[in-house]
Amino acid sequence: MTKRPHALCRLCGQVANLCNSHVIPKWCYQNSFNKKHQLKVAATPDLRLKPEQDGYKEYLLCENCEQRFSLLESYAKPILTDGRAPDADREFAYALNGVDAQKIKRFILSVVWRCSVSSSAPFYHIDIGDKHEKNMANALLLDDAIPAQIYPTLIYRLMAGPDALKDLIRSPSIERIEGHRCARVILSGYLFHVFVTSHDVPRDWEGWLLREINWVPIHRVDIGDLPWLKEEWEKLREHEQLQPVLDAERAGQ
Ligand SMILES: [Zn+2]
Repeated sequence: MTKRPHALCRLCGQVANLCNSHVIPKWCYQNSFNKKHQLKVAATPDLRLKPEQDGYKEYLLCENCEQRFSLLESYAKPILTDGRAPDADREFAYALNGVDAQKIKRFILSVVWRCSVSSSAPFYHIDIGDKHEKNMANALLLDDAIPAQIYPTLIYRLMAGPDALKDLIRSPSIERIEGHRCARVILSGYLFHVFVTSHDVPRDWEGWLLREINWVPIHRVDIGDLPWLKEEWEKLREHEQLQPVLDAERAGQ
């Protein structure tokens, strides 16, 4: 058995025996394994399959911090994997009522932070910089609410026509959107935008940001309207005969 390193926890800075943590929680990959149980991760621009059997793991966190993230993951998992969405409407947006948006935001930030501090190849395209790694770690360590305009976070449900793309996962990256640096993460068929900026994002986005409220707004966006992703998705399907997974919301109709 590999000896756990006794080293600095990347989140809290304490010296401790570190846990071999998933950079992205394993359940985010659950629909994303092929028949050989290889992970379908669009990790590089040429979309090579990565043969990892168990997702990507690294020694990053002490047990307390691992537990802190694990609670967020347990909360987020059923919400992000059961395909819940209002049946009736195919409107461009919907809301998940009774869902703690603050916990979902913390979960998303915890993923962005882990991907940024990770040294694994699929996460090379995301680096939020030392200052923001530190500030985000501090925000995640405190139990205070993270205001809407601090690391503003938006959620999109990725659609291919009527189907929600449950099994799409992609290497996260940093992009520039409306002049702001933005971490772009795709997990479980959701696209998350986290703005890594010290400036406020445009006021007309305010209503869509995750805030301290039991209500999570989600936009639907068709993959055909995202040229940067459409091409990758088509290549991935060709490459791996990946069938778009019918979303539970459709299967249940
Ligand atoms: Zn720690």
